[in-house]
Amino acid sequence: MAGVAFGLQATLAQQAPPAPVSPAPAAPAPATTAAPQAEATPEAAAKQVLVQKLQHVRPIDAVAPLPTHYDMLRGAYGPYRANNHLLYYHLDIRVDPEKQWVSGKNTIRFKMLKDGTRIQLDLRDTLSIDKILLGDTTLTYVRDDGAVFIDFPQTLRAGQTYSIEFYYSGHPEETGRFGGMTFKKDPSGHVWINTACEETGASMWWPDKDQWRDEGESMDISVAVPNGLMDVSNGRLVGHTDLGDGYTRWDWHVSYGINNYDVSLNIGNYVHFGEEMAEPSGAKLTMDYYVLPEDLDKAKVQFAQARGMIEAYQHYFGEYPFIKDGYKLVEAPYSGMEHQSAVTYGNLFKNGYLGRDWTGVGINTRFDFIIIHESGHEWFGNSVTAQDSSDMWIHEGWTTYLETLYVEYRWGHDDALKYMGGLKPKVINLRPIVAERGVNAQPTEDQYFKGALMINTLRSVVNDDAKWWALLHEFYQHFKYQNIMTEDVVAWWNQHTGLNLTPIFNQYLRHAHIPRLELLFGEKPGMAMYKWDADEDDFAMPVKVGTADKWEIIKPTTKWQWMETAVGKDDFQVATDLYYVDVNKQ
Ligand SMILES: [Zn+2]
Repeated sequence: MAGVAFGLQATLAQQAPPAPVSPAPAAPAPATTAAPQAEATPEAAAKQVLVQKLQHVRPIDAVAPLPTHYDMLRGAYGPYRANNHLLYYHLDIRVDPEKQWVSGKNTIRFKMLKDGTRIQLDLRDTLSIDKILLGDTTLTYVRDDGAVFIDFPQTLRAGQTYSIEFYYSGHPEETGRFGGMTFKKDPSGHVWINTACEETGASMWWPDKDQWRDEGESMDISVAVPNGLMDVSNGRLVGHTDLGDGYTRWDWHVSYGINNYDVSLNIGNYVHFGEEMAEPSGAKLTMDYYVLPEDLDKAKVQFAQARGMIEAYQHYFGEYPFIKDGYKLVEAPYSGMEHQSAVTYGNLFKNGYLGRDWTGVGINTRFDFIIIHESGHEWFGNSVTAQDSSDMWIHEGWTTYLETLYVEYRWGHDDALKYMGGLKPKVINLRPIVAERGVNAQPTEDQYFKGALMINTLRSVVNDDAKWWALLHEFYQHFKYQNIMTEDVVAWWNQHTGLNLTPIFNQYLRHAHIPRLELLFGEKPGMAMYKWDADEDDFAMPVKVGTADKWEIIKPTTKWQWMETAVGKDDFQVATDLYYVDVNKQ
């Protein structure tokens, strides 16, 4: 999804409407949040910066909330999820804008992996289950706080494929940062209904297996809407059918596995324009754009950036992942979301992020943050997916890094480093990036910026750009269309670099603090002592030090070592634009 909410106000206002919008609630106070000391020491200044940061921290970044009963059911890959593998969904619904009502069914095809008589699906309790059918048989079920345990009268056999029809109806409650499912009017007064449910989960508007590990292999999406409106969903438009009762059904086919939260409907008074581009393989990529009529002219100018985006990411990683479905941008009333092959866009048709310079260093104003970021998720997030939201840095850290690659492709390495430097003030370092598993945990927003800075650090550790570009390409190609965890990422990089990178990944992903290079001068002239201060005992990352025109690579560990250097303490530098580390010179 899009970076972060601008300021806590927006986040708070959307998470808990009655809450006061400012100031930020006090974050729990670790020792470091004590009031800054009066004297202007570097330490006091650092504390001052931290105190200022804390005033803008989402509560979730300061301390992980305790999982609720709902989180346990939603987050666990329990026995009634693990006993089957999803193959296919056909979501076939009618949306009534006046009643703000959804009704219809999801046909769910799955293969049993073990014999069993029960499976778990999910649907929020605010929506009614009308019936669940296996053929002509009506199935019984037990609802528990969002989970729906479906019981079968006879044992389902391992290796066999089954298909059930899950009928439901109701008014999806607006919830979460982007509303989940919202019933709005566009500025001209036409119906505008959209979904964005990554945090809240797809089961807030349709019944599904609401987890990240298991994706089907394809999906059909049929949405009936009042005549005169259009539904834009994921995949390829198959066609539309006048149902003769004042409604028209729009049919979309998705030819790939799809994350459930990526499944999207966008109902509105859309107009369409499009273009095509040739893939390196010679295949043709269709690019279709759906916007409100009043924004058509602006969109034709702004969406011209999509081609350059595709070119840049193809350069580094290979072909657009969902070529059979095509690439789409669809206007929506929130900033943006990486809905697979139908990226939603609400960035005001301006460069930057909602018209602002997102990283504050004068580079983001050259491009549309939402086109570049959300589309980057097609490679990392939609094609390569984390199995659990705990490991969502695989989506957000990588996609933030993709932003920097886009900058490098367009404007060169120096600007990419400058852009990257703009990420640093956004890092909070209060909690590890990888969150608790199996409990529907939302990782801290450090997953974006610190994640990208870690990947840039990895490039410096590899210290061979030709090799780095080959590794990046191979890494993506190896894991495309897979659902993976941090361990898979680390094991791959260890194997393909021949290095033990585990302590480096662990330090950045599994601890709050970044490594600090301790440097001691003055014991003897012409000599410096060095070591890493890190949580990982085996942390031994090479780093470039000395002067920018003549870097020297040292290999500090967590034990003191020494080096000869002609550079004095004041002039002695560490390449902190290439490695995301703290430095303490004494
Ligand atoms: Zn994102």
